[in-house]
Amino acid sequence: MAHARGTKRHKSMNVDRRTFVKGMALAGGGALGIMLSPTPWYLIRDLAFWTQNWPWVPAPAPGEPSFEKSICRICDGGCGINVRKVDMRLVRIDGDKEHPVNQGSICPMGAAALQMLYGPSRTKVPLRRVGPRENPEWRPITWAEAIREVALKVRQLRAAGRPHELACITNSAHSTVNQFFERFLHAVGSRNFMQMNSALEAHSTVLALMQGVDEGIAYDIENARYLLSFGCNLLEGWGACGRMYHAHANRSAHEGGNSLEIVQIEPNLSVTASKASRWIPIKPGTDAALALSIAHVLISDGLYDKTFVERHTFGFEDWKDSDGKRRRGFKSEVLGRYSPRSVELITQVPANVIEEVAHEFAANQPALALGGRCDGSLFAGIYELMAIHSLNALAGNLSRPGGIFLQCDVPLKSLSPVKMDEQAEQGFAIPRSDGAGSKEHPLARHLPHNLDAGKVGVLLIHEVNPSYALPNRKVARAIFEDIPYIVSFSSFIDESSMQADLILPISTPLERWDDHTGAPGIPYPIYGLSHPLVNPLYESRNAGDVLIEIARELGGTIAESFPWNNTVEALRERAAGLYESGTGVIHTAEFSATYMSQTATPTEVKSFPTFSDFWNALVKNCCWSDPQCTTDQLEQTLKTPGKKFEFFSQRLQKTFGYSNDLECMPHYHEPPPNPQGFDLLIMPENLITMADNGLGTPPLLIKQLSNDVLSENDLFVQVNPITAMYQGLKDGESVILESPAGKVRVRIHTFAGVREGVVLIPLGFGHTAYDRFLRNKGVNALEIFDAKMDTVSGLAVWWAVPGKIYKV
Ligand code: SF4
Repeated sequence: MAHARGTKRHKSMNVDRRTFVKGMALAGGGALGIMLSPTPWYLIRDLAFWTQNWPWVPAPAPGEPSFEKSICRICDGGCGINVRKVDMRLVRIDGDKEHPVNQGSICPMGAAALQMLYGPSRTKVPLRRVGPRENPEWRPITWAEAIREVALKVRQLRAAGRPHELACITNSAHSTVNQFFERFLHAVGSRNFMQMNSALEAHSTVLALMQGVDEGIAYDIENARYLLSFGCNLLEGWGACGRMYHAHANRSAHEGGNSLEIVQIEPNLSVTASKASRWIPIKPGTDAALALSIAHVLISDGLYDKTFVERHTFGFEDWKDSDGKRRRGFKSEVLGRYSPRSVELITQVPANVIEEVAHEFAANQPALALGGRCDGSLFAGIYELMAIHSLNALAGNLSRPGGIFLQCDVPLKSLSPVKMDEQAEQGFAIPRSDGAGSKEHPLARHLPHNLDAGKVGVLLIHEVNPSYALPNRKVARAIFEDIPYIVSFSSFIDESSMQADLILPISTPLERWDDHTGAPGIPYPIYGLSHPLVNPLYESRNAGDVLIEIARELGGTIAESFPWNNTVEALRERAAGLYESGTGVIHTAEFSATYMSQTATPTEVKSFPTFSDFWNALVKNCCWSDPQCTTDQLEQTLKTPGKKFEFFSQRLQKTFGYSNDLECMPHYHEPPPNPQGFDLLIMPENLITMADNGLGTPPLLIKQLSNDVLSENDLFVQVNPITAMYQGLKDGESVILESPAGKVRVRIHTFAGVREGVVLIPLGFGHTAYDRFLRNKGVNALEIFDAKMDTVSGLAVWWAVPGKIYKV
């Protein structure tokens, strides 16, 4: 058995300035990472420069500073933040050192969040559109008018017997306000509550199919010795990104004194790849074949956990079904089809490298195989994630330190049941308009990219920007062409707001009460609560409060379903469950005169004499967690009928009636050949400094981009110099990048860290709304990606598309 430790590593391609700059943009990493990264210092320097020119940039006023904790709500990472105030003005955001998720780290977006609060693209007052959507004009109205108007539209739907035509698309957060939206739809009589997909949904599907559980996946990264990352953008927004920075910054002094080896498998030298122990530049879309070839080596060389596999798995060996028919098991399948030599031809990863990585994976236990990109989009479908997850089962790494766990439930009190009248009952019986849970997509919960816009009469959009970010562009266009009435609950003038009928200005996370349950990939329960750090600017309001008012305007059972005076009453009601559970801790902290000397101690929930004491501590410290609560018993994580991990998914067979055994097991299938003339493969690229979910990146971060990412308004795509040479293109040249779905004009940057034949296009550009710092910068990469639906999960598959590139 080869041993990984001490193996000399090398990278096969050089790193150029762009990658260096991208690496430097990694602005997290706890105290160590923050000290080593120049980005926070750039931010401070640039803030100082620009403060002189931009009146909306926080201008420190004279006065005593104070500090307050909160949780960052820009993404679902669940990071804790410390915010510095001077009088009532917020002037700086740092990661909260006491927060269990990020432990002091903060990403560039989190650090720049003050520009979202004070920036120029805020929605300020309720606006009603006058004139056509293509050429809108906006008229300010009062909140009372806005609430009456939304209530009238909902009332009209109900009066016409079409309550099910009310729909909502919201963000992916597990928050009380999102529960309010779902509740509102139920009370009106609609099932069409949709959340944008997150990475957790793909993982949850894999767990449901292979382990029979419905919870989210959790990784004990802090105790692992080896991460085999199949394209996970670990340092560009994957999972709880603050946590990943912290884990990365401390990887040489990992738990138990072991350093953490990271092997990054992806076609380009990303920030994660450039900082990994080893980078394997795989042919795009072949990850499943590689994972199964690693499984081949583990099995054929006897490197897997035989005890675990024998006792706790199903479908490993060949087996006989109840009819006595012989079925092929995972082992036969893998040994028969995925030898390193044959997989080398598929993946273009040398057979000896596959052998070496398999041996390293076995030798460096506990080791984790990770898959999936940050936004829930899939590269090659759910079978790819199943293949990767099989490696964790072969290593026996379920419910073991350094292995796979499930996310534990947070013991919040449930809100009282929704009240529904007869109309609501009738509407609620009508199937969803996105097909989630239907016969075609039985495993899906939310499929906004599959929404049938023709079946929606009124759409509520809450803190998402589907016009920009929905991976299926046809659906994105249909929403705004076909749906008669759209209300955008947004803090910003984004693309979706610009095409709505009514814009309701929502307070930003720093101005409002809000909460967040869990953090992606964290094994123990965490609850974050935020309170207003400043009074809401302009006329912005909490979306939860607005829904309460709309419900009251509608009256009847809809109003009865919202018995609270405001959102904070419901938050308090739910938090009572934490107190009554008597479990967990709050990291109570007292700030002394200087920020750096703050100290915090975990205070057990049971030590608070009353709920009021507990609530006050929760409001002040913003985070409850229960690190002792993990799914460390195997029976908690294996809930298939036989209580086993299933290499052969019986649920998959039963749900879809598959007769072919292969369709019930992880496997690789060859993608269809590229259409004629489209010989390249276009892949999107996540940049840590750019929001790629439709949110507007703050000006400070736009200013950090190097000239070979964005120059004036020109976006650069990366191609290998040899690819450029074959296409007759030079570095910096203006080109057309075309896919079967469309074409965009960009410039090229030649970079040896991209595989030949691949074009990398950054996400997060090409906004047509927001402010002058973001608008019309580059192109929206999604315009040339044609999302397909994964047959099993229904999730969008759009991570690569055939392409060609030629001179303008
Ligand atoms: S990772 Fe997400 S939650 Fe954490 S600081 Fe960054 S934007 Fe905020």
